[in-house]
Amino acid sequence: MTLRGRLTAAFLAVTFGPVLLGGAFVASTVAAVDRSRATERLAVAATAVRTSIDALCQQLRAAADAVALTTDHAGVAAQVVNRGLAAAVQVTDVTGRVSYATPNAPPAPWRDCTTSAPFGGPVGALVARVELRDTAGTTLGTVAAAQPVDPAFVARLAAVTGVAVTLLDGTIPPARVAHSTESPGGLEAVLAAASALRGDRVTSTPDGRYLRRAGPAAGQPLPLVLSVPSDQPPGLYAVLVGVVLLAALLGVVAAWRLARVATRPLVELAGAVDRVVAGDLTARVPVRDGDEIGQLADAVNRLTRETGGYLAALASSRDQLRGHLAVLGDTLASTHDLQRILRVILHSALAATGARAGAVLLNAQDDGLVVECTEGFDGWRPGTGPLRVPLGGGVVGDVVVTGQPCRGRLATDTGPPGEPCCRTYIAVPLAGPPAARPTEGPPAATGAGVAPTLGVLALYDRLGGEEFDDDDLATLRTFAGHAAVAVHNVRVHEETQRLSLTDPLTGLWNYRYLRESLRREVERATRFGRMVSVLALDLDRFKEVNDTYGHAAGDTVLVEFARRVRGEIREVDLAFRQGGEEFVVLLPETDARGAAIVAERLGAAIRTTPVAVVGHAGVQESIPVTVSIGIAVYPDHADTGAGVLEAADEALYAAKAAGRDTWRAARAHGGGEPTAVGSAGTGRTGQAGGASSGPHPPRYGHGR
Ligand code: GH3
Ligand code: MG
Ligand code: MG
Repeated sequence: MTLRGRLTAAFLAVTFGPVLLGGAFVASTVAAVDRSRATERLAVAATAVRTSIDALCQQLRAAADAVALTTDHAGVAAQVVNRGLAAAVQVTDVTGRVSYATPNAPPAPWRDCTTSAPFGGPVGALVARVELRDTAGTTLGTVAAAQPVDPAFVARLAAVTGVAVTLLDGTIPPARVAHSTESPGGLEAVLAAASALRGDRVTSTPDGRYLRRAGPAAGQPLPLVLSVPSDQPPGLYAVLVGVVLLAALLGVVAAWRLARVATRPLVELAGAVDRVVAGDLTARVPVRDGDEIGQLADAVNRLTRETGGYLAALASSRDQLRGHLAVLGDTLASTHDLQRILRVILHSALAATGARAGAVLLNAQDDGLVVECTEGFDGWRPGTGPLRVPLGGGVVGDVVVTGQPCRGRLATDTGPPGEPCCRTYIAVPLAGPPAARPTEGPPAATGAGVAPTLGVLALYDRLGGEEFDDDDLATLRTFAGHAAVAVHNVRVHEETQRLSLTDPLTGLWNYRYLRESLRREVERATRFGRMVSVLALDLDRFKEVNDTYGHAAGDTVLVEFARRVRGEIREVDLAFRQGGEEFVVLLPETDARGAAIVAERLGAAIRTTPVAVVGHAGVQESIPVTVSIGIAVYPDHADTGAGVLEAADEALYAAKAAGRDTWRAARAHGGGEPTAVGSAGTGRTGQAGGASSGPHPPRYGHGR
């Protein structure tokens, strides 16, 4: 059953119940009052009947007495009849023979006033009898005075009592009606009810009459039934039933309307909630009143509105995140610019977690953590020299050493030593792929079984002042993963590039990079009006080394040669293996004089210490090595990089021609011989315009 159905039933019970009870009460009260009044009227009528019949009997007795006291029975009897004291007088002797009777006597049987004995058959008259005595008191007979019991008699009784009077024709059942003033229609019902009636009891007939018996009794010998119609207004019950039915009808209508009014807000509420559940967050419940249902509707509206707000905020933050991810993806996919990648990752991490500031620090091994990029800081920016945090120090230093993320809140906002001021922080390690770890971790983190980290992604001061939570940690781990992959990729890329530009045997830059570097340095020198010196180096009689000690020993000599060259030049200088046993050294911002000093130093570094190699049959050998060097300077000896290199080569040939283990400077523009000479094994200093003193004797091999 629906709520509306239950409410309708409840309202109906509340409204219709009392009407029904009231109707029943009115009906029963009216019936009781009616019966009581009828009983009262019938009692009064019964008394009146007894009094009337008693009076009639006394009158008849007086008439009989008057006849009995005289001897002129006929005369006195006639007078009595004429005065209306009796309808007939009869004188009988002791034998019962009628000695005199007035004419027009009523029909027999006559009912004696004093009797109450049962009898059958119709009563003709009421009679009072007195004894007729002589003076001596001897009974001579009886004088009877009678009054007819006819319809007129009954009508008089009815007139006196004010009720309908019915005279039965005897007391022995089944009784019949002798005379009655009752309406013919009701007579049957009265007779039927009276036959079961005894004493003073009052009963009613189905057609609404009340009746009671009056006699026969002492002083009232006639079997009379008194009846009165009900006083109830006709159609009372019909009206009552009609009223109740009308009330019921009105009750149903009112109950249905009330239930409808009461349940309508609930139906609207349910409808709105259904729409919300289906995803329509614009659904609103009409708030009609400030009652409980109104308050509920208002609460549902607020809930829906706020849910809509939350969803909109979620959608916007999701779109924002999607945007950041798109930028991040594009950046990761399209660039090897590590700074830019880290900036985008940091920016996205800040947006995703709602942090105020953040930084990415990369592991520079012995140098500790170097701040690569920051956002949201005023006083902690890279750019004014690299900012560093020692490994194992502060929050981020600990994260690198332990490889574990950490987050928390600081009691004061001074910040960990060496790190920015903050109240809350979160830092996660950038863990590179396993293959990358052994070579890239710091010394402290490359121990057996300890995973090294490439750096740290740290965020500070979550907006709103709350601590960073587990969700932030998960988000940050994702970004840290991206950052780690990016760092690793960029480093791999850098390494690949480096390998493509270096010579695998000696580790020096290769010819490709030589050309590029030459072009770059010449360009720079042109722009700033500086000089670049080029040294062309060629090991002397190197073929003999190979031939004598084997190719492997030759390689060892090449590697050692490269190491010594690297050790002799500045950081800004570049050393290349041009091919075979030919090398080039680029000396930016260096003139011919400076280049000669370097050439001298290089020659000495090679010459002074023989190279230890393992020769044929595993014998340890010590090989004396020398190098010839040609020097050319831009812009003194050529206008282009290639020209300078060529000039250096020419100078090299000159050095070879001068006996090897020496250096020569290229000719100045315009041709001619190389303009400077170097020492050759003996430490002689070259002089401008001089020439080498011819080839040195071979110094390799045994027995030479
Ligand atoms: P010179 O004093 O005139 O320069 O005499 P040289 O023997 O050094 O000159 P040459 O150009 O005739 O010989 C160069 C030799 O260098 C030839 C080759 O066997 C050797 N060589 C070139 N590249 C390599 C290398 O990668 N490893 C080794 N072991 N030897 C190499
Ligand atoms: Mg050569
Ligand atoms: Mg050579």
